[in-house]
Amino acid sequence: MVILDASNIVKIYGELDHESSTTALNEVSLSIHKGEFIAIMGPSGSGKSTLLNVLSGIDKPTSGEVSIAGEKISEITGDTLALFRRKQLGFVFQDFNLLDSLTVKENIILPMVLERKTANEMDARIEFLSSLFGIESILYKYPYNLSGGQQQRTAVSRALVNKPSILLADEPTGNLDSKSSDVIMNCFKNIVDELATTVLLVTHDVFAASYCQKVIFLKDGSIHSSITKKGSRKEFLGEIMDCQAVLGG
Ligand code: ADP
Ligand code: MG
Repeated sequence: MVILDASNIVKIYGELDHESSTTALNEVSLSIHKGEFIAIMGPSGSGKSTLLNVLSGIDKPTSGEVSIAGEKISEITGDTLALFRRKQLGFVFQDFNLLDSLTVKENIILPMVLERKTANEMDARIEFLSSLFGIESILYKYPYNLSGGQQQRTAVSRALVNKPSILLADEPTGNLDSKSSDVIMNCFKNIVDELATTVLLVTHDVFAASYCQKVIFLKDGSIHSSITKKGSRKEFLGEIMDCQAVLGG
């Protein structure tokens, strides 16, 4: 089952055909199936963030189409888009984006409050997610009292609270030490393996990428290559490093 389908995505910043315009994405097509766990890598400026923004509807492509769960999100706008994004997409950011005035529990259930879910539904979901990610003991703490890894586990819980079709993450381990990165990548791996969640992340970190099943490499706004994990994580890590060396940057 295809969850996300992007065809011939072009994104040009600035005026078309003007010498100052930048072609950030040039005819990018990809399909993501339910339960896939994919990393996008590539040198700085290769179009990774632009691609994630276009796939998630934050930004419109100059041309091409994006469908998520059968909805053409590149064609919807305003409240319809906001509602769709809230119901179908989960986001995880490099800097966590938690609200400091809310506890961990309040941060996690906020998207359910916006969806007017019942207290029983919220309690059940909080119980499930906090046990899944080992954050039961910090539910009543505030983000500024937590480690980076704890904040990111909170952010992943919040991103999953409305059971999205796909979880999107831009550099989710970018602000974490290597131990916390491993914990977060194991969280993603668990939700893919056990809940059949679909996860697409952008990362610079070859160790983080080695947890995924597939890595897509961007170069100069186009898909340069992609590799799929066949053996162990260690073997995959070696392959990812080889591809990165070919790409440079
Ligand atoms: P990456 O995330 O891989 O570093 P980006 O998607 O941020 O790459 O950028 C791709 C290209 O688009 C770069 O040349 C960048 O300078 C340009 N770019 C990104 N955002 C904008 C913008 N808002 N306005 C103009 N150019 C942009
Ligand atoms: Mg970027």
